[in-house]
This record gives sequence, structure tokens and C-alpha cells, in this order.
Amino acid sequence: MNHKLISGTLLSLFLLGCSSTSKVTNTKPADVSKYMNTITADELKTHLYIVASDEMGGRDTGTEEQKKAGKYLIDQYKKEGISFPKEATDWYQKVPSEFMARGFAPKLNDSENIWAFIKGSEKPDEILVISAHYDHVGTKNGEVYNGADDDGSGTVALLEIAQAFKKAQKDGFGPKRSILFLHVTGEEHGLHGSRYYSENPLFPLANTVADINIDMIGRRDKLHPDTNNYIYVIGSDRLSTELHTINEEANSKYTNLELDYKYNDRNDPERIYYRSDHYNFAKHGIPSIFFFNGVHDDYHMPTDTPDKIEYDALTKRTQLAFTLAWELANRPERIKVDRDGK
Ligand SMILES: [Zn+2]
Repeated sequence: MNHKLISGTLLSLFLLGCSSTSKVTNTKPADVSKYMNTITADELKTHLYIVASDEMGGRDTGTEEQKKAGKYLIDQYKKEGISFPKEATDWYQKVPSEFMARGFAPKLNDSENIWAFIKGSEKPDEILVISAHYDHVGTKNGEVYNGADDDGSGTVALLEIAQAFKKAQKDGFGPKRSILFLHVTGEEHGLHGSRYYSENPLFPLANTVADINIDMIGRRDKLHPDTNNYIYVIGSDRLSTELHTINEEANSKYTNLELDYKYNDRNDPERIYYRSDHYNFAKHGIPSIFFFNGVHDDYHMPTDTPDKIEYDALTKRTQLAFTLAWELANRPERIKVDRDGK
């Protein structure tokens, strides 16, 4: 009797010990595919039909409709048990109207970047940023410019990536470094939100290990008429050889997309490298990678609607961003800056 009691007590102590430690870190190797596969076409579609609905009015910077879309994003994070960074007072980084003033362009209202945060378990002070702009060009002459691809696609990708990391954390596989999910504003008016963040960072830029920027990943362009199984990768090799290599390794291990470097050409006449939010990180020396599907006939037209999105492609590209983020957040050493940015 006594023996049983003792062993019973020991057993329950042992179990108690296991369950409390497993909440912090799981020592078994994580099954990255399991979490990658929580990123589904159905969930991306559900979010995108709301974010890019007529009700959101094309999400022009500083409008009530943009704020409504922002509230939807925040509600999704809350549902997942993900909060804003505790270093901030709330979900918003206010981007003042004056900051966005540009020449003779009409004055924009104050607007907001939105942030969500998963704290790292081992190196919480090292920050991986995953960014996408949630603004678009609004409503003109009564027509809503839904911006499903631009950049509803990147916006909902962030929600799904955050959910996957949170699920892993609940199983004891939380990221070792912290991840800041940054929904920037004012992109269409001149990359304002990301520029504001880079000049007013919540976490020191010196501790920011990389930016993964996602802007338009739900469609295909005319150069890929026969397949959507590709993604343009821009900027990955400009500051860090490792960033470039890790992305290629993640892709060959998990997603097998054709990685197209056309727009990474230093002589690209369209200068795509300078045209999305990652550039405001890269110019400060932070290794940055930009995922992009290229332009199409519906680019910046009222016809960029959620029914035209290729959800299988959106899913795979989101999964690539996730597996890259996983490696950047979990590898023993942060990636090195060994290139000059050119
Ligand atoms: Zn755009």
C-alpha cells in the first residue's frame, strides 16, 4: 500500500513536471510540416473575402473602412490568443498625417500600423519582422478597389503564419526568437507605414534579424501563363548570403515552388526592389526578402477581387514564408550580414 502510494505520488509529480515544462519548450524535434499544413486555402479564403470585401471600401489610408479592416485583423489575433507587444500600449502604431505629407498630394488622415507579437522562448530580444501592407487605394467614382491581391493576400498570409506559430507554441515549440507581425499602412501612398516604423522602431533595429515582406502572392502574371507554382524572390541576397540560402533550402524541403529572381536583377527597369515595404528595412541594413507574384491586368483596378485569387498558389507561397520564418526564428545563430546591400 505504502509503496503504491509513494510510486503514485512520484508518478503524479513526474507527470506534473512534464506538463508544466512542455508548455515552455518541447525537447523533441518539431514537425514543421504539421504547423505549415495548418495554413489552408479555406482559411486564407475566408479571411480574404472579408478583408477585400466591398464593405472595406478599398482600405485607403486613414479611412474608416481601413480601420474596419484593421479591427478584423485584431479580432483574428485575439481569437488565437495572440497579443500586441507588451512594449506597446495597444495594437496600433499611429502614423501621423504630417509624416505622410508629400508634395501636392492630398493630405491623408492619421493612420495606423497594426502589430501582433509572439515572444521568443530563448532569444526574446532578437526580432524577426514579417510585414504586409493592409492599405489599398480606396473607392473612386463609386467603384471599390478591393485590393484582394494587393495586398489582401499578404495581409491574410500574416494571419495564417501567426496562427501556425501560435499552434506550435502551444505544443511547446514556440519560436526561439520573437516575431513581430507588422501590418503597415500608407504603402500605396509611398511606403509610409514601413518608413515610419523604421524611423520609430518598437524594438532596436540592431536587434531586428530580418524582414520577410509579403506583397501580392495570390495571382500569376503573364510571364507564367501555364503555372502558378512560382514566386518572385527579391532582395534575399543583398545583405545576407544566409537569408538567400535558407529560403532556397526551405523551398526545396517543403514547398517546391519555382523561385524566380527576375526582379532581383540589379538592372531591373521596374525597380521592384525599391517598391515595397521591405526596402525600408533593407536600407537600414536589415536582411530583407520580398515575395511577389508580379503584376496582372487587375493590378490597381477595381477588378482585383477575391474570386480571382488562386488559393492553391496563395497557400503554398504563404507556407514558404512560414517555413523560412521558422528557420530564421529558430536557428542557433541569427543570420549574418555579409553583403553591402547592393
Ligand atoms: Zn499596390
